Amino acid sequence: MSRIETQHSRLGMVPWPDEDGAQYVAKGYWEGRGLAEYLYDESIADDDATCLVDGQMRMSYRDLRARVDGAACRLRGLGLRTDDRVVVQLPNCWEFVVLMAACFRLGVIPVMAQPAHRHLEIANMADLTEAKALVVPDTVKDFDHQAMARKIAASTPSVDHVVVAGGDVWAGNIDLRAICEPISNADAVELDRIAPNADAAALFLLSGGTTGRPKLIPRTHNDYAYMIRRAAEICRIGPDTVYLAVHPVAHGFTMAGPGILGTLISGGRVVIARSAAPERAFAAIEAERVTMTTLVPASVRRWLEHRGSDRRHDLSSLRLVQVGGARFSPEVARRVPPAFGCTVQQAYGMSEGLFCLTRPSDSSEVAYHTQGRPICPDDELLVVDDHGEPVASGEQGMLLTRGPYTPRGYYRAAELNAEAFAPGGWYRTGDLVRLRRDGNLVVEGRTKDVINRGGEKVSAEELEEIIEQLDGVRMVAAVGIPDPLLGERVSIYVVPVPGKEITLDGIRTSLEQVGLARYKIPEQLVLVDELPTTALGKTDKKALRAGFAVAQDHANR
Ligand code: AMP
Repeated sequence: MSRIETQHSRLGMVPWPDEDGAQYVAKGYWEGRGLAEYLYDESIADDDATCLVDGQMRMSYRDLRARVDGAACRLRGLGLRTDDRVVVQLPNCWEFVVLMAACFRLGVIPVMAQPAHRHLEIANMADLTEAKALVVPDTVKDFDHQAMARKIAASTPSVDHVVVAGGDVWAGNIDLRAICEPISNADAVELDRIAPNADAAALFLLSGGTTGRPKLIPRTHNDYAYMIRRAAEICRIGPDTVYLAVHPVAHGFTMAGPGILGTLISGGRVVIARSAAPERAFAAIEAERVTMTTLVPASVRRWLEHRGSDRRHDLSSLRLVQVGGARFSPEVARRVPPAFGCTVQQAYGMSEGLFCLTRPSDSSEVAYHTQGRPICPDDELLVVDDHGEPVASGEQGMLLTRGPYTPRGYYRAAELNAEAFAPGGWYRTGDLVRLRRDGNLVVEGRTKDVINRGGEKVSAEELEEIIEQLDGVRMVAAVGIPDPLLGERVSIYVVPVPGKEITLDGIRTSLEQVGLARYKIPEQLVLVDELPTTALGKTDKKALRAGFAVAQDHANR
């Protein structure tokens, strides 16, 4: 067995079939380079060019590489080795970039948690991946991540270290800023010697999927690097690009679509914003002459509203605003270019792989009305009906996909993979789409039981499993209800145990105590005597959503 086969089987990864892999190499998609190698390519930018800005911190490419070397050496000093997993939960900050690059250099695998995740999610990820370390901020918005990480470390035998970003690092924990100090005399030969194989997992992304247990997606250096390079090419990223990262940096879209990594491997500059709040973002765009950013539809609405009432900032440097992650209406899309003087680009994709983009040169009809087309000529799309048969051209159906950056399985999840992937290695996206004659996709809905709250995905099943455990709850169903700003919000229908009083506040408090991410916590409760069921005896979610629509209609009259 080769070294890479050993890694794949030990890590519970499903490799692409050899013949497909060979084709992806032959076509130049898989270049056989580790992600860090691209960053160390001195031809991309002048050493002194500023590559990263975070508040007062401004870093040149030279500084960045020295910091990445420093972090790589120190992480190694902590005992972290190729293939070790590290759960990373960081807010938007420069340390994130250094840490990620150091992990890529060492072959240590970051497991990407979101800032909103809490005890339950982080503990599950650490447990499933047998993580050696947890990386968290100290306190963010009154939530003590360090205390949470300590607790998880104490109950997860694999965790040896808690690494903390921030000014208040407790004794016994490790200071991330100290880890990220630059060194100029790194043993580059040694670091190059231990560089990971490009077929190895570079990072694990968390699926917004549909089960209680976290689903992790191993993305290899080869596949991720291809996606990033190709997206950067389509978006015309280069040394003159100034990319503003406003949404959580750990999300694939901001990190790699082409995002932060695409900008850095193309010699551009990344500006880190703490949030997507328009007041701060507009100031950053003006100050740094930002050319590109990535938004979810809910943020676009906030930006448009804010721009309507406050035109103080000079946003004339903006060239491209990418929008994706949730349904984006053409009516809002068409308002972007006049408001911000830039091109709007729609994106549709998933952490599992497939990435579609409208092209900057597309007509406004395509840019406003479609979610673009795959970035790779060898992305395969199949649109099927309920029986798995291909639908007629231009008809709506469920989208299946495979290709050079869509892995063939989740991490350590054989049973799940049998459901999530159709024979032939096709990933079932759970999205309902229409494929137009011009090759562009229109996302029309979904079959998976997920609530898309402003781009953040909530698994209905996960939520139901947890709420069912709560005192007084006999049955529960979670559904998304329409929301003008976020697209959807989380609502629950509960059948209480007779005689028990159930309130929304009570449920919310219990879920916070369990340690569930806040965006998953229901914002509406409807008490019912029973839940409607389908002919197959499953909860009829369509009926629940329709019932809500009727109730709302009455309320609005
Ligand atoms: P994630 O893995 O969190 O990026 O979520 C991927 C899912 O988000 C997709 O499978 C879709 O359900 C949804 N999604 C992403 N982009 C769009 C879009 N432009 N329009 C509608 N839904 C989208």
